Amino acid sequence: MNLPDTGQKRIVIIGGGFAGISLAKNLKGVDLQVVLIDRHNYHTFQPLLYQVSTSGLEPDSIAYPLRKVLNELDNFYFRMASVQRIDPDGKTVFTDIGNLGYDYLVLATGTKTNFFGNQNIARYAMPMKTVPQALDIRSLMLQNFEKADDCLDPVERKALLNFCIVGAGPTGVELAGAFAELKNNVFPKDYRHLNIDEMEINLFEGGPRVLPPMSENASKKATEFLKALGVRVHLNVIASDYDGERLTLKDGTTLNTKNFIWTAGVTGAAIEGFATHVLVERLNRYKVNRFNQVEGYDTVFAIGDIAYMETDGFPKGHPQVAQPAIQQGELLADNLERMLEGKELKPFTYRDKGTMATIGRNKAVADIKKLKFAGFFAWFIWMFVHLMALVGFRNKVVVFFNWAYNYINYDKAARLIMRRFRPKA
Ligand SMILES: Cc1cc2nc3c(=O)[nH]c(=O)nc-3n(C[C@H](O)[C@H](O)[C@H](O)COP(=O)(O)OP(=O)(O)OC[C@H]3O[C@@H](n4cnc5c(N)ncnc54)[C@H](O)[C@@H]3O)c2cc1C
Repeated sequence: MNLPDTGQKRIVIIGGGFAGISLAKNLKGVDLQVVLIDRHNYHTFQPLLYQVSTSGLEPDSIAYPLRKVLNELDNFYFRMASVQRIDPDGKTVFTDIGNLGYDYLVLATGTKTNFFGNQNIARYAMPMKTVPQALDIRSLMLQNFEKADDCLDPVERKALLNFCIVGAGPTGVELAGAFAELKNNVFPKDYRHLNIDEMEINLFEGGPRVLPPMSENASKKATEFLKALGVRVHLNVIASDYDGERLTLKDGTTLNTKNFIWTAGVTGAAIEGFATHVLVERLNRYKVNRFNQVEGYDTVFAIGDIAYMETDGFPKGHPQVAQPAIQQGELLADNLERMLEGKELKPFTYRDKGTMATIGRNKAVADIKKLKFAGFFAWFIWMFVHLMALVGFRNKVVVFFNWAYNYINYDKAARLIMRRFRPKA
């Protein structure tokens, strides 16, 4: 790779997600050459991807150019590349645009969708981890509505209007709520000749309750909110196959659906090259110590979703959400500076700020420390927190404007098929 020799030690950060940019921003003033590599040239604010999928927000308002996030840093370099392999002994990363040596390496690659080895589901389901995937869901939904409006066959029409979401974690719940808002407030005006009651929203969860990472109270309230919006919630149900037309459940039941969205799990986006013992196999996360050093390496770190750190408070690792990623990035920047100065490193302790999920208009659930609340106040807090967390002033303004417009007009304006989605044959 074409990078100048600045005479400084080089730190290579792989991944410009919450963890990677938190680290890079906090390296301002530290005497290192900082190289950030990501396969996209933008940071994705994943918590609002579901609003892109359901026409509530334009994709540009939840993505932010990585060069812009970091252009105030001296000695900062960005390369848009996909890292394919790492040679930890030779201290080199191998990418699709060339190789690069490092003094320090930070793995901040997050996660990818986990289909649990089900090849049919991996082929035909719609995942939602990236902006292009969210746009595919939006296009598919609108294309299927266009087809349904012109469809005389009631069986075919039912399949086109059947939305099946697998996984009732925060993403699945928020997505189901947003589809229900479209059904209740938007599509009846757009598709006046369709019987909108034919649109079904089915949410499947393998466990006994929705929002498994949250409190019982949050699950109960979220289920009530979903049902009030018309979402059919199916608990203790496992999706075992999908062939692009038909969903088969583990008990043998089948449903026809042309909209099958998979939010049932993630696995670490680990990169080839390290010995297998540094990974927690079933999770694909790198084992790290309290300083985020990957097991057996002093100068290789993992932060965010890809890092697996056992602590007394979190014996099974930290939750794969934005806050641990941001906090680990901040601490690692501090620790790198300490390392360069020969000072003792500080161990990571997670400050849990709580968990929230929103379920359509005016409703959310929140677990913040010992406080558990639900309804309008939780929704208000949810909006405030997400607005503040968005990267970039422009994005905050655009999202705020969109939300205000949607709220007042009961509308979701981005109902646009900008590029057709072609389902796999
Ligand atoms: C739909 C959805 C909704 C969510 N909602 C919430 C929420 O409401 N609240 C919350 O706290 N958390 C939420 N999360 C989780 C949160 O987004 C993650 O915990 C967070 O993004 C983790 O940050 P990270 O930096 O570890 O990884 P990421 O943000 O995933 O960033 C990883 C980066 O690495 C890049 N990358 C990966 N592999 C390579 C490679 N080989 N070469 C080059 N680049 C690579 C990727 O392009 C990406 O930019 C949600 C996640 C999803 C998918």
